Parts: sequence; C-alpha cells; structure tokens
Amino acid sequence: MKLNVAEILKHLPKTNCKKCGELTCMAFAARLAKRDISLEACPPLFTPEYESNRKALEAILKGAAA
Ligand code: SF4
Repeated sequence: MKLNVAEILKHLPKTNCKKCGELTCMAFAARLAKRDISLEACPPLFTPEYESNRKALEAILKGAAA
C-alpha cells in the first residue's frame, strides 16, 4: 500500500527544525512515504512531547507494510 504524504505530515511536529537533515517536515514526509528514510531520523518524535505523534506514525507505517 502506498503511503500518503499528507497523512504522514499531519503527524509530524511541523517545526521544520532540520534535525533529520531535511529542510522541512514536508520533505521528510515525502522521503518517509517512499521508505527512503526512517522515523528514527526525526529526533523530536522520540521526545515525550511528540510521543502520540510517533505512535500514530508507527501505526501508519505498520499498516502500510501489511
Ligand atoms: S527532524 Fe522531524 S520535526 Fe525536524 S524537520 Fe525533520 S521531520 Fe520535521
């Protein structure tokens, strides 16, 4: 199943902090949709503040893999 970039972006922090090496969360979402990068590349997702976002993204990625 193809991953939806907009759906992924919805759950990203959307701070465009560039810690993943991408200029924007949108660029990260596009790479994640192509499975060209992993969730682990976005450090903010692994902080308590974004825990629910990370869980939502993990569910999306898992669902798409099935
Ligand atoms: S590290 Fe995460 S929050 Fe920062 S720009 Fe990349 S995707 Fe967005």
